[in-house]
Amino acid sequence: MSDIPRQFTPAELDEWQRHLDEANRNNILCHCRQCDYEWIASTPEPCICGSKDVESIACWQFPDG
Ligand SMILES: [Zn+2]
Repeated sequence: MSDIPRQFTPAELDEWQRHLDEANRNNILCHCRQCDYEWIASTPEPCICGSKDVESIACWQFPDG
């Protein structure tokens, strides 16, 4: 296989960190306890079924795998 660059410049790391921060802010997994519907939102919000019994989990909290 081709060689993959393993080192980032400080600027690239900084950029990557900004992307991560943005992703953390904007990717909240919402899960409705009423109808089991799941969706991604930028803020916790009520379900389309009208229920406000919604669990919200920031995506960065997911373990790998
Ligand atoms: Zn629902």
